[in-house]
Amino acid sequence: MALIVHKYGGTSMGSTERIKNVARRVAKWHDAGHQIVVVPSAMSGETNRLLGLAREVMAQPDPRELDMLASTGEQVSVALLAMALQSIGKDAVSYAGWQVPVRTDSAFTKARIQSIDDARVKRDLDAGRIVIITGFQGVDDNGNITTLGRGGSDTSAVAVAAALKAAECLIYTDVDGVYTTDPRVVSDARRLRTVTFEEMLEMASLGSKVLQIRSVEFAGNYRMPTRVLSSLTDPMIPLEEEARSGTLISFEEDTHMEQATITGIAFNRDEAKITVMQVPDRPGIAYQILGPIAEANIDVDMIVQNQGVDGKTDFTFTVPRGEYDRAMDVLNTSVKAHIGSGNIVGDTKVSKVSVVGVGMRSHVGVASQMFRTLSEEGINMQLISTSEIKISVLIDEKYMELAVRVLHKAFELEKA
Ligand code: ADP
Ligand code: ASP
Ligand code: MG
Repeated sequence: MALIVHKYGGTSMGSTERIKNVARRVAKWHDAGHQIVVVPSAMSGETNRLLGLAREVMAQPDPRELDMLASTGEQVSVALLAMALQSIGKDAVSYAGWQVPVRTDSAFTKARIQSIDDARVKRDLDAGRIVIITGFQGVDDNGNITTLGRGGSDTSAVAVAAALKAAECLIYTDVDGVYTTDPRVVSDARRLRTVTFEEMLEMASLGSKVLQIRSVEFAGNYRMPTRVLSSLTDPMIPLEEEARSGTLISFEEDTHMEQATITGIAFNRDEAKITVMQVPDRPGIAYQILGPIAEANIDVDMIVQNQGVDGKTDFTFTVPRGEYDRAMDVLNTSVKAHIGSGNIVGDTKVSKVSVVGVGMRSHVGVASQMFRTLSEEGINMQLISTSEIKISVLIDEKYMELAVRVLHKAFELEKA
């Protein structure tokens, strides 16, 4: 008998029929003698619908109220799943984040989990109940409901698994594992049986939305065995078969040795580029530009400062597209006059494409192959950034899918 956490995403919870299937699958695991905690997302489309309503009422809604609203999607899911389990004779109880409680900081719409109280959940599990906890949400020290950012139910699930010292966290989704790239973009993308934690972290941080990045961080910090697998198979397939399916995130340092140079390709459509022109080329300028951006809690990703000419230079960086307007406001109101720069220009029609692989460390030539492949398609690279195990380029968004396809082919990722 083991304690196992299941997470089901929006598509998996997308209709009452699907919720009944989730209940059958969960019951199968419980019948096998395991203690089960389930962390579901809102039904597919629901979070978007709720956020759309907010925008109909107000252009820039208060983040606290947004969280109050968006968190309701998951509350619907947990209650329906508890009922579906009860209807097949299982003792199940659902909780909202604040009832556990899942404690977070107060960064509304992108809160971080600080602690999870395991007492109430453990009592239920020991009494033989299946416990269902809302994904995506928590509560801050002042009793406000918070949410963890889009895709945050993955993080809720792995954090719950870590807090309960679960044996495994199973992330059930609408694909049957982690692929070399999004199988919706490249039809011959290949499923990976295992992916190293480091690579998964890079893929998630570079835009592969199959797992939210913070869930991978939790998995790494707590060494939580985490597996991505399909919720769309027959719920009654043998448990042993299901338990081995999908993609396991591995922490084995030495599995790298035989690995291919490149493991996968990630992309992010959600990018915006900002250039502050003609900034004085002197120490402290980067800080004066990015300090106020950081204070506004806006994430900055790629950063490039050109070689100075005549004491002036251009300073370029990228932010999430949804934060572009706010970043421009900050720069125009509190940076431009202060540092005496020229114009501030931006582009919201850019995407980032990245090749990822721990094998890249020991192979020269990945960058040149990547750049040659893109140039053969006439795709211009606007920014480049690298780490030991990834190379990212920022390109016009209209070439994004083409770039992913030609790179997937050039690195022969469809072959095992
Ligand atoms: P859920 O609602 O279950 O959380 P998401 O839509 O958040 O599901 O994540 C699953 C989706 O991630 C898949 O449908 C797929 O389109 C996308 N995806 C992106 N990159 C990958 C990848 N490398 N491997 C598998 N799926 C990927
Ligand atoms: N329902 C939330 C979202 O759509 C959280 C999640 O699905 O993981 O982003
Ligand atoms: Mg998701």
